[in-house]
Amino acid sequence: TIGMLAIDANGDISGACTTSGMGYKMAGRVGDSPIIGAGLFVDNEVGGATATGVGEEVVRTVGSFLIVELMRQGKSPQEACKEGVERIMAKNKDRDDFQIGFIAINKAGETGGYCIHPGFTYRSYSEEGHVNNPSESYIKS
Ligand code: ASP
Repeated sequence: TIGMLAIDANGDISGACTTSGMGYKMAGRVGDSPIIGAGLFVDNEVGGATATGVGEEVVRTVGSFLIVELMRQGKSPQEACKEGVERIMAKNKDRDDFQIGFIAINKAGETGGYCIHPGFTYRSYSEEGHVNNPSESYIKS
């Protein structure tokens, strides 16, 4: 999945995502990316989030909506992405064979990213240039 979140000079937030879906998917499978709330969600009063990884798990948790709601409750984008991944992992304690990651932005333009596996990065662009942000990753307990 490629997920994009943007905030303009007025503080208006937008987002988009695109995916080729999962490898070897069943014909007719609908992943999370085309489902608003799952693969992508923006509430211009709060922020936006987008997901990558196993869409079924993101759909089950309405993942991107969850991240935005966690930010509405006061969590930073980073904290919200971390909690979203941890909720999914809590329901999948015996599995380590799949990938989930979220990125998020809030009204202040703060960003965050969190992924199950190490090495996930997201890139920020602004008038000052661009930077790669290594996201934190989940450590199985
Ligand atoms: N989230 C996508 C899906 O489940 C897969 C991806 O990350 O590209 O269809």
